[in-house]
Amino acid sequence: MARNPIQFQPGLSLPAFLEQYGTEEQCRAALYRLRWPKEFVCPDCGNTTCCQLSRGLYQCHHCHHQTSLTAGTIFHGTHLPLTTWFLAIYLLTQRKNGLSALQLPRELGVTYNTAWKLKHKLLQVMHERNPRETLTGRIEIDDAYLDGERPGKRGRSAEHKFPFVAAVQTDEESHPQRVQLRRVSGFTLTEIRRYAQQAIAPGSQVISDGLGWDKIALCRHVSSCWKNIRG
Ligand SMILES: [Zn+2]
Repeated sequence: MARNPIQFQPGLSLPAFLEQYGTEEQCRAALYRLRWPKEFVCPDCGNTTCCQLSRGLYQCHHCHHQTSLTAGTIFHGTHLPLTTWFLAIYLLTQRKNGLSALQLPRELGVTYNTAWKLKHKLLQVMHERNPRETLTGRIEIDDAYLDGERPGKRGRSAEHKFPFVAAVQTDEESHPQRVQLRRVSGFTLTEIRRYAQQAIAPGSQVISDGLGWDKIALCRHVSSCWKNIRG
């Protein structure tokens, strides 16, 4: 399965997010739907029947292989509740100016070190994404920052900020289809061109209200680009 499977509707408000993903059961159900959209499939033998054991394990009826909901995902082996992960992904991808190293632990209710590890895991996922994978069609795009300050170096320094691009491929009704997070070295014309050539399929329509994204229109293979107007 995709290593970064969680995607939220762009512009989703915090109350709406909490209504959909505020409990562990809701997050587990969302992860289950992403992992097994049609029905359970045993990762070992492909059989589709299983029983649910305690501790969130699923056991295949055929080969008795046991798998957890989080096995093979970025949540594998985590001691944090899924609600914390979901909220972290929501906060880090929806707030375009990023969160300071001190804000994230406060908002998640975890220690500074835990928040730092969690952010690094998400950064790592961005690095590991297939660099040849491109989005196509209608794409909503935004520039954002993750704050990469290290534990023990608290302060207001912005020297370790990681700029990245959050892009969501949607259908005509703005329903999200695929999400893509990419690290960039900055938002210069050269870097935006490099990003667009690697991450966006030729002929795509790019929609953004971010600063400087009209530069992307200068990339020859992007068919159109306009500002996103959100109500
Ligand atoms: Zn099996």
